[in-house]
Formats: sequence, C-alpha cells, structure tokens
Amino acid sequence: MAGMTDETPAGTRPAAAPDPAGDPAPGTPLACDVLVIGGGPAGSTTATLLARDGHHVVMLEKECHPRFHIGESLLPMNMPILARLGLLEQVRAIGVHKRGADFPVTGEPERRHDYNTFPFERALDPRSDHAFQVKRADFDALLFAHARREGVDAREQVRVERIVFGDDGRPGEVRARDAAGHALAFAPRYVVDASGRDTVVGRQLGLKRRNRTHQSAAIFSHFRGVARREGGDAGNITVQRFEHGWTWLIPLPDGVMSVGAVCFPDYLKQRRGNTDAFLMDTLMSQPAVAARMQGAERVGDVHVTGNYSYACTRMGGPGWLMVGDAHAFVDPVFSSGVFLAMDGGEQAARVVGQALREPRRERALQAAMQRRSRRGLRHFEWFIYRFNTPVMRHLFNHPRNNWQVEQAVISMLAGDVFDNPAVIRRLRVFRLIYALTSLALAPSALRGWLRRRRQARVRFEGDTLHRGAGPDGIEARPGTPAPSAMEVRP
Ligand SMILES: Cc1cc2nc3c(=O)[nH]c(=O)nc-3n(C[C@H](O)[C@H](O)[C@H](O)COP(=O)(O)OP(=O)(O)OC[C@H]3O[C@@H](n4cnc5c(N)ncnc54)[C@H](O)[C@@H]3O)c2cc1C
Repeated sequence: MAGMTDETPAGTRPAAAPDPAGDPAPGTPLACDVLVIGGGPAGSTTATLLARDGHHVVMLEKECHPRFHIGESLLPMNMPILARLGLLEQVRAIGVHKRGADFPVTGEPERRHDYNTFPFERALDPRSDHAFQVKRADFDALLFAHARREGVDAREQVRVERIVFGDDGRPGEVRARDAAGHALAFAPRYVVDASGRDTVVGRQLGLKRRNRTHQSAAIFSHFRGVARREGGDAGNITVQRFEHGWTWLIPLPDGVMSVGAVCFPDYLKQRRGNTDAFLMDTLMSQPAVAARMQGAERVGDVHVTGNYSYACTRMGGPGWLMVGDAHAFVDPVFSSGVFLAMDGGEQAARVVGQALREPRRERALQAAMQRRSRRGLRHFEWFIYRFNTPVMRHLFNHPRNNWQVEQAVISMLAGDVFDNPAVIRRLRVFRLIYALTSLALAPSALRGWLRRRRQARVRFEGDTLHRGAGPDGIEARPGTPAPSAMEVRP
C-alpha cells in the first residue's frame, strides 16, 4: 500500500497514520490515498484498479450488497473491462448470454410482427461478439467483493455526508455515518465520487444541471413467464418504440424478464392511483409486448424513476473526480450506463494514480479525461435525443449497410464510441443520411422535433428506485399476475 512517506508528492498533506488496530483514534480522521464514494460499478472498478496500483483505497457504500439496482443490460465493450478486472468468467456464471439487440418495426401496420435484430458480431472491428444481461444485485455484489479481495477497504452501510474542502481547494476531510449512527471521518489525498444519481460532490458544489434537451421517466419491474426470442437470440434485449416512449424486455437468469417503459414525462404525469396498474396498462397497450407477456407474473416491486437526465458542469477539480452517473446520465435506451461507469472507472484510476505520482499533471490529466468522456457521450446523446422521432424510426425499420453505416450503428450499440475512428467516420455518414431522410419526411420530422422540445420542459420527479412506497404512497407488491390477453388493448 502506498504510505505517507518523504516521497509524498508536493501539494498533498501528510496524513495521520492509522492506529495498529486499523482504525484511527476517535476524532482522528483515517488517512488514505483515495476515498471512493459509492460501491456500484464505477466505484468498484476505480477502487479495484487503484488498489492494484498499490494505493490505500477506502470505498464507502451507503447500502448493503446485494441490493436492487436498475441497469441490467451490459454492452460488448464491457467485456474487455471485465476481463482486465479478472471477472469475465464470474460474470458469465451469473449472466444471460446477450448476442444482440432487436428493435421491432413500428408505425407500419403490415409489418407489426417484424423486428430487426442487430447482432454484435456484425460490428466494425468487434471486440466481443456478445455481452451479458445481469441481475444488478448479483453483479454489483460480485464487483464489490472482488474490490475487497484486491485490497480495498470496502465498507457497506456507510453514507458519505459531506466533504470538507481545505483552503487550497482540495478535499480535506470526508465525513460519513455508519448504520449505527456513528460519525466517521477520513483524510484522503484524493476523492472519487462514484455515488450515482446521488451525485454527492455535484450537489454539494452546485454543479448538477438538468438536461434541457431531453427528459424521460421510467416505470419497470421483474416478471416471470415472458416469452423470449428463439434459439441463440433468447438472451437479446428488445427495445420497442411506442407512442409515449419505448419499452425494454431484458432476459435475466432464472427465467426472469426485466420489463420497463421509458416514457415522455407528460405521459407519466397522467398516472392516477395504482402504479402497478399503470405499468400494466402501459405494457398491454403495445400489442407486441402484450403478446409476449400473456400469462406473465410479476415477481418484483414496481419502480418509478422521475426525470433523470442531468450532467455536472465539470468532472473534476483539485483532488477530486466524478465518475459514472455521479457525473452525468442521459437515458438508458442503448444500455450504455454500466459500460460508461466502468470505462470511466478505468480512466479515473489512471488519472488519479498519475496525479498522485505527478501532481503537476493533475489538471491536464483531468481535462483529457473529461474531453474523452464528453466525446463518447455525445455520440450516444445524438441517437438518444432522436430515438423516438419518425425519421429514426424509419431508419431503424429499414436498416441498410451502405458504406458500412449499419455496422457502425451496431458498433455504437456495442459501446464502441470512444476510440475507433472507423466507427466515428461512419456515424457521421449516418447523421448525413438522417438529415437527408428528414428532408424527405419533413412534416413528420418537424412534428417529432416539436414534441421532443416540449417534453424537455416537462417535470416529473417521482422516484421509487429505493424499495417501498411510490411517490403516490402506494406500494406495488410482487406476485401480482399480469392481466390476461383478454385485457389487452389493441
Ligand atoms: C430506468 C433505467 C434503466 C437503465 N437500464 C440500463 C441498462 O439496461 N444497462 C445499463 O448499462 N445501464 C442502464 N441504466 C443506467 C445504470 O443504472 C447506471 O448508469 C449505472 O448503474 C451507473 O453506475 P454507477 O456506478 O455510476 O452508479 P450506481 O450504480 O448508481 O452506484 C452508485 C452507488 O453509490 C451509492 N451511494 C450513493 N450515495 C452515497 C453516499 N452518500 N455514500 C455512500 N454511498 C453512496 C449507491 O448506493 C450506489 O450503490 C439504466 C438506468 C435507468 C434509470
């Protein structure tokens, strides 16, 4: 472990040594090299790699693993990261093999049973021809336990409450509280905020901004008895557009299917009364989804998340860095969240490790990380913002591989948006095709644009991601049968 020696880089404080029992005397903050806030994918990845690099890392997680979390569909670009962490086989053991994504044809009644499958093996320079669908409770617990095995002082049920910044603008002390209510203090040389939507540092420093271009909200649960696709495609994610947004079907282990709808906020605002009934009405209003859900039984709570698109105005500062959802989140349509969190974790580990060794390079390292991250996110954003427009629907209904553009879209679906110039070039061609198609479909393209603009202003803040009662106070319990086919609305 990196100790506080004479080699401690300039610009960082010497930290008090822990007592022989491992914890400091009461009132004395525990010194460490890096304190990671949050033990989700971003936090565990960052912490593991920094510990491997010889640093003394403390990771604080406010909940206790395994715990429910949404975000179950991984991308092929996750696979090399899992391999580098040494976790590929363990994740394979808890995951469902995902060969690709399918997008049902919508808006063309004569093709209402058709869907287009985009297999990852057709991506340009595929790094992996598959990914996994995972129960996040199991996946996150695995990553967290692995971080601990790699030497991270990983603590659960410890909530970070506040970071006290010193006169030099660097984090001086991190204050936290454990499950028994005891106050804890840490004196890290570096803080990595991986606290997800809680955005601990972003909130404290007032850096978090609502996304003004795009807003959506989601309602979802777990079911058993939902039909899967045939054969090798049985593990694929389905992304189904509908009038008020889009629906996902993600096959999970043990015959469970995660089913959820991401809706325009004004649609979710219409919800009256029972959250459970609203979810089922929404799903059953889509004939293709209803057909797959005949006889399905709900086996999980119903969750609602309100408007969740936001970004922090910067990613780091002296002695601190944000990673994953703690920095930004847009929309889950391309299942990019966990990949972005873990890719960001790898980047953060590199930046923090180098900044601790060479503090003079800190600003440049952070700036380069932020530029790369924003560049990748922009490619996802471009597709996300337009996903429900008539033009994008048309292009996904009629995929064509002219100039390998379809393959580039599959590469984007695989997460390959950061460092592959061949993909980036062809995604630019796709944008051109989109613009030309917009001219051809001008009236409906204009309607789509106006709708998107209107939705970005609608607020819907409900959130039941944490177990228990919804924003309407109604707790939706598992075990409720899905409505039968008789109740399906055309
Ligand atoms: C509806 C919906 C569907 C999604 N579907 C997908 C999908 O299919 N695929 C995909 O890849 N992504 C998906 N996502 C996104 C995905 O959930 C996130 O992007 C991903 O979990 C981000 O990982 P993270 O480690 O940054 O944050 P998180 O996974 O949220 O982890 C943050 C951790 O920090 C802890 N924490 C928070 N505050 C504190 C504190 N003060 N002190 C200590 N600990 C704290 C939390 O308990 C949590 O464990 C979806 C998101 C939504 C909203």
